[in-house]
Amino acid sequence: MPYFNKFTKKFKTLKDLSKSNEKVILKMWEGLGYYRRARNLLACSKYLVNYHNSKIPKTLEELKKLPGIGDYTGNALLGLVYDKPTIAIDGNVKRVFSRYLNKEEDKIDFDKLIEKNRKQLFNTNRNADFVEALMEFGALVCKPKDPNCYTCCLNKTCKYFKSKNKINTIRKKMIKIKDYNIFCYINKKKQIALTKANQISFLKDFNLPKIMESNNFLINRDWKFLKSYKNSISNLKLNINLYYKFSDKIPSSYNWYSLENNKEFIPSFTKKIFRQVSTLF
Ligand code: SF4
Repeated sequence: MPYFNKFTKKFKTLKDLSKSNEKVILKMWEGLGYYRRARNLLACSKYLVNYHNSKIPKTLEELKKLPGIGDYTGNALLGLVYDKPTIAIDGNVKRVFSRYLNKEEDKIDFDKLIEKNRKQLFNTNRNADFVEALMEFGALVCKPKDPNCYTCCLNKTCKYFKSKNKINTIRKKMIKIKDYNIFCYINKKKQIALTKANQISFLKDFNLPKIMESNNFLINRDWKFLKSYKNSISNLKLNINLYYKFSDKIPSSYNWYSLENNKEFIPSFTKKIFRQVSTLF
């Protein structure tokens, strides 16, 4: 909430937001993760101001032309903003339908199901509330684990509740494990060299030290080993070996940043590296 309040206080309209720049937006977003969303939000505001007279488009087709908007967000916007009869199908909503029918998610054609039951589903003049309610119902009542079936308003007709042969709706999170060697140029002024020229998919184009995917422990006289630690980013578990060297010379794509305070945005992943390297001083 503090992030949201600060953000909406600074940018009161789409126009205000569109006049800003990535540096400012990312600095305000610092610590939240999912930085691509910040970039998309800024890009969206510029697109809307330039091509849609600062209005949210009214069709899914037009909405999907906006940066970062797909079926889910597009449908959510149509429902929430324009009260259109749509459903934003996220994991929660899929699970509700799947349990109600006691049928595995991958065996359900959700678009077809909604189209076929259009009259019953949208038998309301509160479509915006319906979009929201369905998502909340999945998050609070028909929860991933231990759904509140005994108090649920749908239990009289819910096939999952009635069935002795219930489908499995608990999804295992796919966790990927990756190993990285990270190399930090540092200097006596308590600065570290960072570059945006990295190919790390989860932090592409963000400030990082030299980083290489590898499961080999490095033995190299140029770089001193500092420590090994773990870091998690959404479904990634990272094993990190951190190396450093004091140097005044750095490759041309790198710039020096203070380890103590920065006006520029630094992702949490990089800040964690700062904390480790700071122990050297
Ligand atoms: S009865 Fe249980 S499984 Fe069925 S919709 Fe309600 S909470 Fe979900």
